[in-house]
Amino acid sequence: MSGILTYALHYEGAFNKNSLGAVSEGAKLAKEIGGEAAAVVVGGDDLTDELCASLGNYGATKVYRVKGPEGLGAPVVDAMAKIIGDDGYSYALFGGGLLGFEIGAGLTARLGAGVTMEVTAVKAQGGKLVAERPILQDSAIVDVDYVGEPGIIIGRLNAFDVVESGGGAAQVVDVEVSFEEHSNRAVMVQRGEQRGADVNIEDAEILVAGGRGLGKAEGFELCESLAGALGGAVAATRAVVDAGWYPYAAQIGQTGKTVAPKLYLAAGISGAIQHKVGMQASENIVAINKDANAPIFEFCDLGIVGDLNAIMPKLTEAVKAKKGG
Ligand SMILES: Cc1cc2nc3c(=O)[nH]c(=O)nc-3n(C[C@H](O)[C@H](O)[C@H](O)COP(=O)(O)OP(=O)(O)OC[C@H]3O[C@@H](n4cnc5c(N)ncnc54)[C@H](O)[C@@H]3O)c2cc1C
Repeated sequence: MSGILTYALHYEGAFNKNSLGAVSEGAKLAKEIGGEAAAVVVGGDDLTDELCASLGNYGATKVYRVKGPEGLGAPVVDAMAKIIGDDGYSYALFGGGLLGFEIGAGLTARLGAGVTMEVTAVKAQGGKLVAERPILQDSAIVDVDYVGEPGIIIGRLNAFDVVESGGGAAQVVDVEVSFEEHSNRAVMVQRGEQRGADVNIEDAEILVAGGRGLGKAEGFELCESLAGALGGAVAATRAVVDAGWYPYAAQIGQTGKTVAPKLYLAAGISGAIQHKVGMQASENIVAINKDANAPIFEFCDLGIVGDLNAIMPKLTEAVKAKKGG
């Protein structure tokens, strides 16, 4: 059967946005190549008929429900490999994010399949899928198609839009999967919330973004105070999320989120191309950097050359005074 299989991650009775984007994209593409759009969900009793069937609203016609640990990569690889083996899907599509990368890579290895990662768009050509992938620091795009089946497509985080197509309830099919011995070796001990994870930075009108120039994790308090005074949210560069100073959920750029707020204030950020691609559509970009030659000054609307430790507290006080007055 020619069709597209996606994985949908759920937590506390809801599917995450990135998964719904993958399901929506899979459904759109399946129509174009004339195949079935299906999704796999793995979890416990919280996976009710109603919750699973609700993926039909995003275009899935069939939902495979597998009993197993939710939120871990290896069991999902087992489940998807079995379903693709039994029912013969031509493509597996993931919305990106760390779990999507983990499952997509595992499935590729298991099935000896072809894979494209960091995909930003997918098109249908002659009944097959072609993945578009940026290369050379996002300065060019290549088209990738697949020799043989299945083809694995892993999107860039949030690359695919969530589309409520109003397709009604999807058919729910229970599948029993016997997990590989190694798949049971990792268990979820705790699922916690990250600092800042409750804020949807993609919808914020004002973002105060911090980079390595903040000096240490505590430096983000300067961004939080200023964002609080302005009524905005906090964002970050990859350098600082990799250093553990701030949650990955706040990362802007090539491998993070793409935003376009009314105001993007970049504090201690050099303006590397990989960061720029995620925020260059902002209406107003203000940069604070002590290096007058920092690349960010080449594309910001207002540049302040100076030490952020001196400027940000004063700016926060000034905003508070203005709002209070
Ligand atoms: C494949 C790939 C994907 C990537 N994806 C991303 C991505 O999605 N997002 C992303 O952000 N990066 C990404 N990067 C990393 C990117 O190349 C840069 O390394 C990163 O953006 C730099 O972060 P930064 O600006 O915080 O740090 P730096 O480049 O180190 O800049 C720190 C800046 O702070 C300034 N500064 C220092 N002290 C002060 C002070 N006291 N006051 C004012 N200014 C000060 C310095 O002058 C400097 O300009 C990616 C890289 C690769 C290779």
